[in-house]
Order: sequence, then C-alpha cells, then structure tokens
Amino acid sequence: MTSFEGGDLVKISYSVLLLTLCLFVSFFLVFFFKMKKQIRLLENILYVDPITGGYNDNKFREVASKLLKDSSGTYAIGCVNINNFRYINDMYGIECGNKVLADMFKKINDIVQDEGCYARVIADHFEFIVKYFDRETFIYVLKTYLSNIEANINDTDKVALKCSCGLYFVEDNNEKISHMLDKADIAIKSISEANSSEINVYDDKYANVLARNQKYTLSMEKALKDNEFKVYVQPKIDLITEKCIGGEALVRWISPSMGFISPGEFIPLFEKNGFITEIDMFVLEQICKDISKRLSENKHVVTISVNQSRLHLNNKYYVNNIEEIINKYNIPAQYIELELTENSFLDITYEIIGIINRLRRQGFSVSIDDFGSGYSSLNILKDISFDVLKIDQIFLNATDNDDRSASIIKSVIDMAHEIDEKVVCEGVETKEQVELLKKLGCDIVQGYYYAKPMPLEEFNAYLDSH
Ligand code: C2E
Ligand code: CA
Ligand code: CA
Repeated sequence: MTSFEGGDLVKISYSVLLLTLCLFVSFFLVFFFKMKKQIRLLENILYVDPITGGYNDNKFREVASKLLKDSSGTYAIGCVNINNFRYINDMYGIECGNKVLADMFKKINDIVQDEGCYARVIADHFEFIVKYFDRETFIYVLKTYLSNIEANINDTDKVALKCSCGLYFVEDNNEKISHMLDKADIAIKSISEANSSEINVYDDKYANVLARNQKYTLSMEKALKDNEFKVYVQPKIDLITEKCIGGEALVRWISPSMGFISPGEFIPLFEKNGFITEIDMFVLEQICKDISKRLSENKHVVTISVNQSRLHLNNKYYVNNIEEIINKYNIPAQYIELELTENSFLDITYEIIGIINRLRRQGFSVSIDDFGSGYSSLNILKDISFDVLKIDQIFLNATDNDDRSASIIKSVIDMAHEIDEKVVCEGVETKEQVELLKKLGCDIVQGYYYAKPMPLEEFNAYLDSH
C-alpha cells in the first residue's frame, strides 16, 4: 500500500497548479491569436478595398481627418474618375477592368507619394488628399500627370485612360472631411462631358448648390411625413396594340415653401444621404394601395414599375420588406415591376444575383433601367437574368442623324429577345421614332409622344378612358 507523506502532497498540488497554469496560458494564447486574426479580418473588411488592396473610403476619411488635424500644411482634396472605364470593362472584361483600377491606384500613389493618402471609393472613382505649396504649379503638374496615364491591358497592349478630377483647396483644416469631399464632388460633377482630361476646382459659385442640398436634407423627413412627395405615373404603350399596358411611377416633391422640385434635383442627394430607400418604399406603398383599391372596385389594373435605388441591394431584408408591403395590401406580385439602373450593378456579387433571383421567383418583374448608359452593360446581362430591358434615351436621340445608332438599338432588341427579355424604349417624343422602333421590333415605348408623367389620380382616369 502506498502512503503519501505531507511533502508529496505539496509537490502534487504544485504540479497540478503548474499544469492548470500552463493550460490556462495556452488557452489564452490560442484565444489571443484567434482574436487577433479575426480583428485583422474585420479590419480588412472595414478598411481595405479588395480590388486595389489599399484604403477604402472609410479608412481614407479616418486617415485624412487625422492628417489635417496633425499638420499645419496646405492641402488639396480631390476625386478622380476614369471617363472611358466602361469601354475597358466592356471590351476587355471585368477582370482586366479590375487590373486597370489597381494600376490607376498606383498612378494616384505617384501623385500623392508621402504627402497625403488616397483610396478607391467605388467603381472607377478615387479620392485623395495631398499637401501642396503653390496652387497654379500643383494644378499644372496634376493636369500633365492625368493627361498621360496609360494602363496595361495585357503584356503588349496599353490603353490611355481619360480622367477627370474635382479639386477642393482646403481652407480650414478643422472643416469636416465629408464637407470637403462634397465640394470636390460638386467640382467634378460640374465638368461638362468633355472628352479630354479636365480638372475643375471648387469655388464659392458652387456654394448655393451646397446650401440647397443642406436645405433639402433638413426638410426631407418632415416633407415625407407631411405628404409633400407625390407619385406621378407615366404610361407605357404596347407598340403592336398601341394600348397602355403599364406605367412607371416617378416621384415629385411639391413643397409649399420651395415649390415644385424635380427628381433630378433631389434624387442624387437622397442617394448620397440614404433617404432614397425611404422614398422608394413610400412610392411602392402608394402604388400598392392604389392597385389594391382598383382591384376591389373591379377596375382594370396594369403592372406599374417603381424605381429602386441601388442602396437596397446592400440590405439583406430588402426582399422581405418588399414582400411585407405587397402582403399588407394583398396584391399579386405580378402587378409590380422593380426598375434598377444599370449603375446598381457596378459590383456584381453573389448576394446581388441572389436578391434579383429571389424577387423574380416571388413573381415580381425586374427591369434593368438606363441600359447602355453605365460602364458594363453586356457583363450585367451575362451574369443576371431580368424580365425587361429599358433602353436609355440617349440611343434614341442619336438615331435622328445616325443609322449606326438604329443598328445598335436593333442589336440590343434582338439580343434581349434572344434571352427572353422584353424591351422598353424610353423618351419617345416623335412619330418618326415610334415608326422606327416598330420596325426594329421594340415591344413597349414610353415617352412624351404618348403621354407625360401625370399624378396618380390622373393616370387612373387615363387608364379608365383608354
Ligand atoms: P428614369 O427612371 O430614367 O425616368 C425617366 C425620366 O425620363 C423621367 O424623368 C421622365 O419624366 C423622363 N421622360 C419620360 N418621357 C420623356 C420624353 O419623351 N422626353 C424626355 N426628355 N424625358 C422623358 P423624371 O421623372 O424627372 O425622373 C428622373 C429620374 O429620377 C428617373 O429617371 C429616375 O432615375 C429617378 N427617379 C424618379 N422617381 C424615383 C423614385 O421614386 N425612386 C428612385 N430611386 N428614383 C427615381
Ligand atoms: Ca426608371
Ligand atoms: Ca430610365
């Protein structure tokens, strides 16, 4: 029989304690490294742009703000767009397009060097902040630099990138970074469709645009509550029967103090501040309510399309939210078409493809709006199935003096029919255009030739009388 002395017991207790401590330390180390790895992963998602491997917009804002606070130098903040990027994407494919974006990122590094920071925001849109000494010299150097950028397409081919740039010379380092970026953005948006490299500098003449935007931002929520947003509908006409087979809902802001405000003025702002998602759901709800009322009165009902901002595609509850609205009014999904502009698909992810497929499975029609205006029209059709393709008005305008434009429309119509999609042509204003589109095989038209957008109640009367 073994007997333990007091000293043995103490030794055993020490060993157990040591073992527990070792176990605890190893668990702690494993946990610590795992956490560190996860934090790094999270940081990557939050702060790194997957295409260039550099900063994304979030990180840029953080670093740029710190830079301005810690430094007393003079800074310029700018944004750069590649004007001809969509041709590169369409002609050489998305993979090559991504490589061009990464190359462009390196070129911006050459401009900024160690004197600031830079990032890709989205698609072909970059931003930077850089120290400068003399405005004229800085603009001269930047202009020379931007007009000589080439990107490698493959081992042998290069393509010249045509860029535009909006600049804001920082006056007060304590100004909010978002305000400074807004100013650079206004400067770039004010560049006309020039085909060459161009730099536009923000100055006070743009201040009224900022003031107007601020006024709209302050009043938008109350305006929605007070029913200042009105739904207009523009009829869509079947080209074979010449009957109204649907309509597109278009929002208007009729403010008692500011008057009639067209969507072109407030939609881009709402896209930026996110309020557009509420407007879109409001419009959808008004349309559902109206369809439900007409169905209960046994009146003729047509499918109405509603414009949907690309911001919805980042919301995992988007499809559920839409379903909730149509269930609330108990209307079949077939009466609703969701229009998403081509620019909603700048990045095509599995999540986005999933959303479109889910909507279509639920019975909604999904259309691709402004087809041909974005930078990657054909790639989108390759990856996502739609029900309707809406040809951008610019193609139609171009047909007036150009047979090639008519041939392009014809090819788009044939291709859409090949993949079982209907074609709507927008902005039809003349009889000649109607005749041409009939000849080219277009299915549906929409435009002032038949009817302008009208208040919802007027559209109902129009439907009843046609
Ligand atoms: P869109 O979706 O491309 O809408 C067509 C625009 O073309 C409308 O401008 C319409 O009034 C106009 N239009 C229709 N027929 C003709 C024509 O024959 N000639 C000409 N020159 N124009 C015609 P609107 O109503 O000013 O809307 C502008 C844009 O605002 C829309 O372009 C759409 O992108 C956006 N939008 C309007 N309502 C909403 C909305 O509820 N939600 C979202 N997300 N966007 C909206
Ligand atoms: Ca539309
Ligand atoms: Ca359109």
